[in-house]
Amino acid sequence: MIKLFTSTTFNSLDDLLLEQIQDLYDAEKRLIDALPKMADASHSPQLQSAFREHLRQTEGHARRLEQIFQQLGKQPERETCEAMKGLIEEGEEMVHAEGDPNVKDAALIAAAQRVEHYEIAGYGSARTFAERLGQRQAAQLLEQTLNEEKETDKKLTQIAEQSVNLKAQRA
Ligand code: FE
Ligand code: FE
Repeated sequence: MIKLFTSTTFNSLDDLLLEQIQDLYDAEKRLIDALPKMADASHSPQLQSAFREHLRQTEGHARRLEQIFQQLGKQPERETCEAMKGLIEEGEEMVHAEGDPNVKDAALIAAAQRVEHYEIAGYGSARTFAERLGQRQAAQLLEQTLNEEKETDKKLTQIAEQSVNLKAQRA
């Protein structure tokens, strides 16, 4: 029988942490390609600069993961993050959308917040596994990124509630 999917083997929490890091690494790399498109598609200068700032942070997230690979004595490797692929596809739909620019901004924020929430879930789990394994440095790095994802989510909420959604409503 042809094996369509290679199955993952988890023999230890260390295996699981590594797999989670590889998945996050792929997700961050994809976001480094996607965020400039989100920024270019934004009408609101505030939203545009939020995306650009988060792009810089995202590059830092990928570097932190590389540091963690090193701490774990592993080479950086990507494991295709199917969920992030899908979330970015949905974001692309907003990027290419026609119509009112303010409504489009609201749509970009909705797509971006789905991404941030996904990352928050991923980093929360990975941080907790690293803590359990006594990988304190890795746990700290993961926590730093987790906090930046949470701050980004909050900032997007603020931009939506204080400006973009109001303008979108007037469309
Ligand atoms: Fe990130
Ligand atoms: Fe993020």
